Amino acid sequence: MYVKVILRERIKRAPTVESFRFAVEEKISFLPGQFCQVIFDEKNPSDKELNKFLSLSSSPTKDYLEVTKRLSESRFSQKLDSLKPKDEVLLKIPLGTCIFKDEYKRVIFLIGGIGITPVASIIEYIMDKNLDTDVTLVYSNGREEEIAFKKELDAWQKINKNLKVFYTVTELAPKDKTILYSRINKDVLSKNVCDVPACVNFIFGPPKMVEAMENLCLELGCCKDNVKTEKFIGY
Ligand SMILES: Cc1cc2nc3c(=O)[nH]c(=O)nc-3n(C[C@H](O)[C@H](O)[C@H](O)COP(=O)(O)OP(=O)(O)OC[C@H]3O[C@@H](n4cnc5c(N)ncnc54)[C@H](O)[C@@H]3O)c2cc1C
Repeated sequence: MYVKVILRERIKRAPTVESFRFAVEEKISFLPGQFCQVIFDEKNPSDKELNKFLSLSSSPTKDYLEVTKRLSESRFSQKLDSLKPKDEVLLKIPLGTCIFKDEYKRVIFLIGGIGITPVASIIEYIMDKNLDTDVTLVYSNGREEEIAFKKELDAWQKINKNLKVFYTVTELAPKDKTILYSRINKDVLSKNVCDVPACVNFIFGPPKMVEAMENLCLELGCCKDNVKTEKFIGY
């Protein structure tokens, strides 16, 4: 369905990453993990430059909708960056089948960069619904200052004993010694995550990262049904 939403606030998540939180007239149903299309060119739905897909980064339990974008120089990013509170935006929502289900008891997220957006929605949903899901997030970025949602993830980890977050960076050795200086690989998983094949593994992010993580899961003995992927085409 198509809905008009109204910008309520913008939240900085990292130097180049920002969330856009929208008020909705009536509650819109979606499932944790789904995405929407933000439409700036209403006359031409096939305009791929001005109409782009963004995951929902807020939980379906909230009375608002939030998307989060790594802002670039693109026309779409400029449009998004020009939004002020009370501005109206058209969304096509909900989209996507890579969703979290309440019955999943043990989940692992293998995430690169901006792929964190649907994970923020899913973890917030698990917290709001008080589910006892065992969650491990392994979250890789280039540099430590680029880690979007770190404040929220650290706070959620303190409240929820079933949530474990491992940060890794790949470009520059981190100052924070709790952050691993490595790509997500067999070694990182075997030291920090137990029994990967017994869990439902979610992989969101740039296509190359998703393919690498999917291969890693299969190499570790996961069956295909237990590996759920969403490629952020466009990166
Ligand atoms: C299901 C899904 C969920 C997504 N969720 C998010 C999200 O939550 N947050 C987020 O920031 N992004 C998300 N994306 C990606 C988003 O839709 C944009 O493609 C991305 O943010 C780049 O947009 P930009 O305007 O900054 O692009 P640009 O800065 O113009 O492009 C970035 C790079 O990608 C290339 N590129 C652009 N479009 C395409 C294309 N269609 N096919 C191949 N290459 C292309 C460009 O040449 C450039 O090298 C998602 C994509 C999908 C499919």
